Amino acid sequence: MKVIEGRNQQLEIDDKKYIWHPFTQMQDYEKEEPLIIEKGNGCTLTDIYGNEYIDGVSSLWTNVHGHRKKELDIAIKKQLDKIAHSTLLGLSNVPAIRYAKKIVGIAPKDLTRVFYSDSGSTAVEIALKIAFQYQQQAESGNPEKKKFISLHNSYHGDTIGSISVGGIDLFHSMYKHLLFESIKAESPYCYRCAFGKSYPGCNLECLSGLEEIMSAHANEVTAIVIEPLVQGASGMLLQPPGYLKKVRELCDRYNIFMIADEVAVGFGKTGKMFACEHEDVTPDIMTLAKGISGGYLPLAATLTTEKIYKGFWGKYEEFKTFFHGHTYTGNPLACAAALASLEIFEEEKVLDKLQAKIEHFKQRLQSFKALDNVGDVRQCGIMVGIELVADKDTKKPFPPGKRIGQRVIKEARKRGLIIRPLGDVIVLMPPLSISIDELDRLCDITYESISLVR
Ligand SMILES: *Cc1c(COP(=O)(O)O)cnc(C)c1O
Repeated sequence: MKVIEGRNQQLEIDDKKYIWHPFTQMQDYEKEEPLIIEKGNGCTLTDIYGNEYIDGVSSLWTNVHGHRKKELDIAIKKQLDKIAHSTLLGLSNVPAIRYAKKIVGIAPKDLTRVFYSDSGSTAVEIALKIAFQYQQQAESGNPEKKKFISLHNSYHGDTIGSISVGGIDLFHSMYKHLLFESIKAESPYCYRCAFGKSYPGCNLECLSGLEEIMSAHANEVTAIVIEPLVQGASGMLLQPPGYLKKVRELCDRYNIFMIADEVAVGFGKTGKMFACEHEDVTPDIMTLAKGISGGYLPLAATLTTEKIYKGFWGKYEEFKTFFHGHTYTGNPLACAAALASLEIFEEEKVLDKLQAKIEHFKQRLQSFKALDNVGDVRQCGIMVGIELVADKDTKKPFPPGKRIGQRVIKEARKRGLIIRPLGDVIVLMPPLSISIDELDRLCDITYESISLVR
């Protein structure tokens, strides 16, 4: 045991000494005790000391079927016995082909082509570049259409292109001199409606603003980028029913591509495989990542229609090629995991079983609304955001110095739950495979942790 303890202390020292953690104020982090994960099983994470925690945010929104899922482990090991990586640039590989066929089979109709990459950000970069280049060179394109529309409070990744269509000032304003311009439309954040209205009496006024922007800029805009149903990273902001469908109609009316960023909402999180299905919408381009490989390996895909794909055809010397390709694009191990993940969805009827859990979650979340520091409880499928406020009547937020979200998740950790807040919004997003018992424990701990902080 002594050896292990010595090892653990060394790991803690080395973590602080060598790693620069993402989205983390390291000045604070270095003062605190790090939590180092060693193992996982199902919805449970185990740290180096053997303490167990529920994985309340599915390892940052990626894990779908739980950890150490037998079928996924086997699929990767089997692929490993064949080959770990070979390039997709001018060559192909077996899992990449099989997965592309499978995902096209279940994606919203008309999305027929798969361009692989390795993160949500790259999937979005690819979507933006495709939408731009199409207009420049396709027969039915229009070279004047160079701009993008995106929403306030949107999040599409951390690379310069994806930040350019991002709308979270805290993350994005620092880089404004590096970004290309995108036209921002108001986001449907009903709890703090920009128009001072409330649903459904509002008649979706946020859409009139969007329509004005679209009609004014139709001849210079190639696409709108949107997170369908839920703006995740800004705090699980839910779009009212009918909103997405209307956006699709507006896109058709003004000849603007719809890029649906399903990186967060895809793979069952909303209760259906893809969020677009709730509104029977087919985007022109769809981005997938996070849950795609069951949360096992980095993989992403950008899906497009045949029409867009054909816009890149031409003689070699016309240079209409899409000159883009990340080194690990279509990695066989990751594609093998992704394929196995879809098979689990089918064989275990994951989405059917999920419905009762979503309903149970909904019931359990009712009581949270009575807490005097809870302003709003938002749920879409298994995705939940609980917005904490200093004053319920005025919706006044807590001062940032209070770090209210951070304090809640620390209380939760002490009680065996790992969650991560988005500012003052407590996010819950367990793996789809969570049991009702685990869901109850997750709710109990979250409730207690929220009620303890002011
Ligand atoms: C997380 C996220 C991304 C970025 O994905 P990365 O894999 O972190 O690059 C893009 N879009 C949405 C909607 C996301 O939630």
